[in-house]
Amino acid sequence: MSRFDVLSMRCSACSSDFEAEVYSLVNVGDDPDLKASVMDGTLFVRRCPHCGAANLVRHPVLYHDPSELLMIWLTDGAPASERTAREIFISTPGLEQYTGRLVDSVGDLVEKVKIFDAGLDDAAMEICKYVTKQELGRDVPLKFVRTDGADNEITMTYPEGGQMQIIAVGFNVYEDCRAILGRNPAMQERTRGLVRIDPAWVAQFFG
Ligand SMILES: [Zn+2]
Repeated sequence: MSRFDVLSMRCSACSSDFEAEVYSLVNVGDDPDLKASVMDGTLFVRRCPHCGAANLVRHPVLYHDPSELLMIWLTDGAPASERTAREIFISTPGLEQYTGRLVDSVGDLVEKVKIFDAGLDDAAMEICKYVTKQELGRDVPLKFVRTDGADNEITMTYPEGGQMQIIAVGFNVYEDCRAILGRNPAMQERTRGLVRIDPAWVAQFFG
């Protein structure tokens, strides 16, 4: 079952206060249609009833895909609640086989869901983003968007000069990164439990 909270929101356009039902638990096993609205971001948008402006929901939410054995928690950033969540994750029977991820923003949650939906490994993808940044020669916040075509070419984006830049990365780059991960038990170990797999995770190995 998916679950809701009622959240007090303030419109970013007209400053009106309003209440909105927002998800605290998204279970795409029970509600398969929700996956698409996570991936296109609409699940995290509420319209202001006064002016109609789209407002981004800022609220912790657990994304659960039971068929993929995947849990991604968009946290409130409080260390105490993260510690509790980690302890629950590692001590709850049935979750041993799960992939558990912590993310800090809606954008990071959407990216994770897209990576796993494409059948890819998010740790290998973070290494792939690191390698791609080295090739670009710039430390930009790359985001995975999709894979396309027979060659599975990877599309990534990053913001620059107020615009979204789009770059294509060969799938062979990702495969090389997956091989690096496959040869490195210490890296694999650090993907277990409820963990953040992000640029800082890569930096502890390559930084
Ligand atoms: Zn408004």
